[in-house]
Amino acid sequence: MRVVSLLFHDVFADDPAESGFVSDAAHRYKLALPDFDAQLAGVRGVRTDSPVDARTIEYGQARGDSLPFLVTVDDGGESYYTKIAERLDRRGWRGHCFVSTDFIGRRGFLNREQIRRLARRGHVIGSHSASHPLRFSALSFGEMVSEWTRSRQVLEDIIGSRIDVASVPGGYFSPAVARAAGAAGIRVLFTSEPVTRVAADGACLLIGRFTIRRGDRHDAARRYVSTAVARSLAWASWNAKGLVKPLLGSSYIRLSDWLLTPRASSRTQA
Ligand SMILES: [Zn+2]
Repeated sequence: MRVVSLLFHDVFADDPAESGFVSDAAHRYKLALPDFDAQLAGVRGVRTDSPVDARTIEYGQARGDSLPFLVTVDDGGESYYTKIAERLDRRGWRGHCFVSTDFIGRRGFLNREQIRRLARRGHVIGSHSASHPLRFSALSFGEMVSEWTRSRQVLEDIIGSRIDVASVPGGYFSPAVARAAGAAGIRVLFTSEPVTRVAADGACLLIGRFTIRRGDRHDAARRYVSTAVARSLAWASWNAKGLVKPLLGSSYIRLSDWLLTPRASSRTQA
């Protein structure tokens, strides 16, 4: 069971603060429109198939030498509706839009009507937690279940159908995060670990993702969907950074995020 999942965040025309969370840490993940267009064009250049839907995919059905791929976008910023969706639609593609539901309707974030319209257009709406906690894996089990449950309910109320796909905010994953998601009715949970293997954890399928962030080479997405070498390099880099984790124990947080994140703000997460 393998799939290549791409992870994007907001895109912007002039200013990264236009859409999604506003902080230096969050802005490091946002792409200017020409950069986002270049990433999509790169993928189109090497793939004639369309991205798959995590809810219905037949995992592991490799097409020739290619693994199936899919597109995910985190945070629920307004740019999914105003910029990203039309670029996917133009190619006959659909993406996965993961929404942190406490921010729905706030400045720079999707509102209820936009979410409803995206679902009608075939985009997969999923949960990105309710409050986008800075370190999701540090929450108690009960708090994790509540985050998943609350956001599912909000989204189901908006689109009128079942929500069972989610992504972990900030990539702060642990086995408890998956168990809590499963307990809350999530069936497919995306992490930020750059792997293609799909794992099962209880009731939940776990799918890794390859993050494309500002400053990455313009062919990053193309390379991820077409070459195992690029994916291996991403995994090696991820693991090298992971070495910080055991040193700092439960207080672990990516140092770069911590240093760049203004404290006491509600719009500080990536
Ligand atoms: Zn996020």
